[in-house]
Amino acid sequence: MNKSRILLIYTGGTIGMIKNYETGALVSFNFNELLENIPELRLLDCHIDTASLKTPIDSSNMNPQYWGELCSIIEKGYESYDGFVVLHGSDTMSYTASALSFMLENLSKPVIFTGSQLPIGDLRTDAKENLITAVQVAALQKRSKPLIKEVCLYFEYKLYRANRTTKTSAENFEAFTSPNYPELLTSGVHLAINESNLWRSNRKVLKVHYNLTTEVLLLKLYPGISQCLVEEMLSITCVEGVVLETFGAGNTTTQKWFLDVLKVTLKKGIPVVNVTQCTSGSVIMGNYETSVALKKMGVINGGDITTEAAITKMMYLLGQNLSSKVFKIVFETSLRGELT
Ligand code: ASP
Repeated sequence: MNKSRILLIYTGGTIGMIKNYETGALVSFNFNELLENIPELRLLDCHIDTASLKTPIDSSNMNPQYWGELCSIIEKGYESYDGFVVLHGSDTMSYTASALSFMLENLSKPVIFTGSQLPIGDLRTDAKENLITAVQVAALQKRSKPLIKEVCLYFEYKLYRANRTTKTSAENFEAFTSPNYPELLTSGVHLAINESNLWRSNRKVLKVHYNLTTEVLLLKLYPGISQCLVEEMLSITCVEGVVLETFGAGNTTTQKWFLDVLKVTLKKGIPVVNVTQCTSGSVIMGNYETSVALKKMGVINGGDITTEAAITKMMYLLGQNLSSKVFKIVFETSLRGELT
């Protein structure tokens, strides 16, 4: 079996910071010295090269332009490497990783996102385990081919399908959850792989989609949301798609003004997707009277998709110039395992 070749891509975030013990401040790590600072990486049975965003960032500054930069690094290295590990700030990791899952169509190699809650130089850091295991996971092979063929997120002993994750803790080392899809792998004394949960890729060639439309409005409902606010927001001229965060299994108020403004939005050809505010479970449109009207007027059923995946899927599909009818069908179809 050939040694796996892994490209480790650094984008920034807490993981890449190190404490200056004189000042106590966190400063960006010199990425070129990464291998020297984590000698354990040398013990892994794979070959590791590194790449970095031109300017490493806190992931709160992440945006689709950087997603394009990341995709381009992966596309350029696709033939030369067996797997990719992306070091990323945890704050927006689920967004970036979800976006890449859509942008990288026909992926047949692992792209594993990881980061940490404490910097790599901190005594109690979670960065080392996250990084080392993420590399190990990216290097896994079966019959001399990469075992994992999808975009994943590895954090605190668990590997998840990236577009199923959401950051749920700013405090715990276990910062992410995947409420509607089981772990792909858990790391204990051994790596326990749940092979039946892994994405099975087709044999087509990688196709990278760089064209995203960012004019997506996220509207979270709450009891008492005012008519003028909703009407104003949905009539903003640059809005091209709406993700509606609804109650429970996809319910909204049935007040006439609300249903009317949604109808007008849909008539303009602006897709509206119904996702639930609940952390787990699914939208079931038509289950309650309060979602029957939405179904009838053509609101898209987001099922059990996360908000992160819904927003990025919408950006991706809006960039494909689909008709309203096809857009709805494709959105309601699982493209990368983001929906049950
Ligand atoms: N603010 C940091 C970031 O997302 C937090 C982290 O890396 O955990 O870049």
